[in-house]
Amino acid sequence: MSEKKIVEIVCVGTEILLGNIVNTNAAYLAEKCAGLGLVNYYQTVVGDNKDRLKETIKLALSRSDIVILSGGLGPTEDDLTKETAAEVCKKKMFLDEESKAAIVAYFERRGLELTDNNFKQAMIPEDSVILKNNNGTAPGVIIKYENKHVVLLPGPPGELKPMFEESVVPYLEKLTSLVIRSQTVKIVSVGESIAETRIKDLIDAQTNPTIATYAKVGEVHVRVTASADSDEEAMKLIKPVVKELKSRFGTNVYTTEEEVTLEKALVDLLEASNLRISTVESCTGGMVAARIINVPGASEVYKAGFITYSNKAKRKLAGVKKSTLEKYTAVSAETAVEMAKVPEIGPKADVIVSVTGCLRPEEGDENKTGLVYIACNVSGDVKVKEYRFGGNRRKIRESATTAALVLARECILDYFSKINFG
Ligand code: ATP
Ligand code: MG
Repeated sequence: MSEKKIVEIVCVGTEILLGNIVNTNAAYLAEKCAGLGLVNYYQTVVGDNKDRLKETIKLALSRSDIVILSGGLGPTEDDLTKETAAEVCKKKMFLDEESKAAIVAYFERRGLELTDNNFKQAMIPEDSVILKNNNGTAPGVIIKYENKHVVLLPGPPGELKPMFEESVVPYLEKLTSLVIRSQTVKIVSVGESIAETRIKDLIDAQTNPTIATYAKVGEVHVRVTASADSDEEAMKLIKPVVKELKSRFGTNVYTTEEEVTLEKALVDLLEASNLRISTVESCTGGMVAARIINVPGASEVYKAGFITYSNKAKRKLAGVKKSTLEKYTAVSAETAVEMAKVPEIGPKADVIVSVTGCLRPEEGDENKTGLVYIACNVSGDVKVKEYRFGGNRRKIRESATTAALVLARECILDYFSKINFG
């Protein structure tokens, strides 16, 4: 295994400096590089200015082994990353016929008109590796300069990401002669500090694989990352740790698959249990429904949804009794429970989840902001929970949405464990 390589990320674009676009490429590249075991000390944003870009690349090369640049590979005047990097690395440019042909083909396929400046994108610095762009016209480039590597990637994330995964990852893995693999254990119903305490011994003892916890809204992700000489060896190191994590967190683990979200896990569970879900939402205003419906295949499991924001709607659409609202108010366990029994969805509804909460202080009331009640009805068995979420309006709604998905999952699992064990 070789020594650690230092990587530096440089994002090029005046748009980023002006705050017109959010620098998501930096976050993406940083996360990927960390996953590859590269050390990152500096990230820079520089505008579309030749002199400053030159200085930035020089400085990066003076202190890092690998410099990754994003943006400015396009055909226009202000796209000058490639020329500038080539100049700093003292490389001549030549017209690469293969890249030129790819650009012509790209334009023909889309019936677009080619202009001369498009061929600027086929100009490649000598001593470099060309990275195919399957999602746009500008090829990426890796310039080899002394013992260092300058990686140039297109700015649009839809081009940068696939190019990074397809071409840059294998290149960097070869460079470090290491294969880095990771697996994420996704956990709900446990806070980050409790999760960390529960696995402190594992974290303290970690070397390879490493274990890191990440707090998400209503979730904790524990990432296990191993480096080895081969894919197989890396997975062999990861497997027992993931198994141990699963045994410590039990049913709080909803997946260990990278692409499975909480809502996908819920949809899968509903499908496997042959149940259909409906939603009755107040303060989340349809966000619970939206997250479920965002999952492909949701049509098999999602039945109906109501947004009952006003008290009148809670009465008319969700069948909440007037007396309940008067006695306990709209933000109460009693109201949430009645919402979860909404007669309109029918007595045969399998699962109904309801959410009611307070997003801002009301006059005369003690401060109830962030107080949320969520109820879940599984075949007539209703469970209700009280939550106190912090943050602004958006954060409270997001937290409540996640909590509703978590409670639905929990209630379905409970229901089946009751059926199976008594
Ligand atoms: P193009 O061929 O589209 O001009 P380019 O490689 O020259 O691509 P830029 O001109 O720098 O890239 O940026 C093009 C677009 O890509 C930006 O308008 C923006 O939408 C997106 N983009 C660029 N840099 C970033 C970044 N750091 N983070 C997120 N998006 C970015
Ligand atoms: Mg551009």
